[in-house]
Amino acid sequence: MVRTFLYLIIAIFLITFIRAAIGLIGKGVAELFQPDVPDKARGGAPPEGGELRQDPVCGIYVSTATRVRKTIDGRDFYFCSESCRDKFRA
Ligand SMILES: [Zn+2]
Repeated sequence: MVRTFLYLIIAIFLITFIRAAIGLIGKGVAELFQPDVPDKARGGAPPEGGELRQDPVCGIYVSTATRVRKTIDGRDFYFCSESCRDKFRA
């Protein structure tokens, strides 16, 4: 009986944890795909949690808060990684 109660507590804890994890993933999915540690010194960059833009190279959706950005002919392009940005430039 005590054991059943314990399992129930663990299950509730797990569900809460998974829900929190899903919320974090939804918010920071672009960060997860970015292998490089972002540098904090970025002037004029959009604020954290900006809107989503599609990476023109691999098609993945990245946040406009991403550091990998390039402006071509006045248009801003956002990339999931520096390798995608380099491919686009090539
Ligand atoms: Zn990409």
